[in-house]
Amino acid sequence: MRKKILVLGNSNVDFVFRIPRFHHPGETILAESLVTFFGGKGANQAITAKRLGGNVHFITKVGNDLYGKSYRHHLIKNGLDQKLILKDKKLPTGTAVIELTPKGENRIIAFLGANGSLSVNDLKRLERYWKGVDVFVTQLEIPFPTVEKGLKMAKEEGALTLLNPSPPVPLPSHVLSSVDFIVPNEVEAQYLTGIKWKGDREIRKMAEKFLDQGVKNVVITLGSKGLFFKNRSEEVWMNAFRVNVIDTTAAGDAFLGALASGLSENKPIREVLRFANGAGALATTKLGAQPSLPSRRDLNMFLKRIEVGKTKRS
Ligand code: ADP
Repeated sequence: MRKKILVLGNSNVDFVFRIPRFHHPGETILAESLVTFFGGKGANQAITAKRLGGNVHFITKVGNDLYGKSYRHHLIKNGLDQKLILKDKKLPTGTAVIELTPKGENRIIAFLGANGSLSVNDLKRLERYWKGVDVFVTQLEIPFPTVEKGLKMAKEEGALTLLNPSPPVPLPSHVLSSVDFIVPNEVEAQYLTGIKWKGDREIRKMAEKFLDQGVKNVVITLGSKGLFFKNRSEEVWMNAFRVNVIDTTAAGDAFLGALASGLSENKPIREVLRFANGAGALATTKLGAQPSLPSRRDLNMFLKRIEVGKTKRS
């Protein structure tokens, strides 16, 4: 039987406006285009793990509005269980307004909305769905007490826990010691460890600091430079796959979803990392968050075809 993956996290509607320039207070400008995407780290990671063939359950909360309704349909269409898609009666669905200029700069206004009311009590009400969870995945775009409770419930079930500490906040030691895999990017790892990145040496130091704080395994994603993995017995540097990059949005989420999916299949760690590295790379080859999340077939074909890039680290 396929192992059970439980993802706890946010769902967001992203409005991407292409604008000629950032405008001034009081000024109105016309956007050149508007694209609306379903996004949010939680949903992106759950959908990736599902597309890669995982037995995925996703706990999230949307608003009692039109976007909430369409997001619910979207998640159900992607094979996720509607009973775990909660609804806040008052708050709107989580939203991000993203402004993009021709120079490639962006400005983002995000509102947690219903994600901000995903509570400890909600998790208690859904307790029966935690039974038999093998792999648990969460991030920090929902209230912190809910993340803490989620990790605790997962550990009580004996699950392997994955934390994507994004956006980063200081993590107490009882949280760190309940994490089997912490998966920050370079910037998040710098913030959380207080170690300034200069090169490979500091990346290793960051990982060691997490291990000293009780985390069992560390995966630091390095964007176009690939990844670094470390635990108490093994260390792996892996270059990124060389691809034609269109948009790096959700590369980290594709990576997380694939990591969860690979771990749920008991693959050896190097194989799991290669799988996640491939999913992250593939996600950069298409525009938007969820449209770019790879399927199992695409990822398998890609991994068969491609050679590891010769990109140099640092
Ligand atoms: P985040 O999106 O969270 O900032 P990263 O930028 O570190 O995370 O990307 C996550 C993973 O996606 C990387 O470890 C790598 O596997 C893949 N990836 C990201 N950018 C590229 C790229 N330009 N080329 C190939 N792979 C990439």
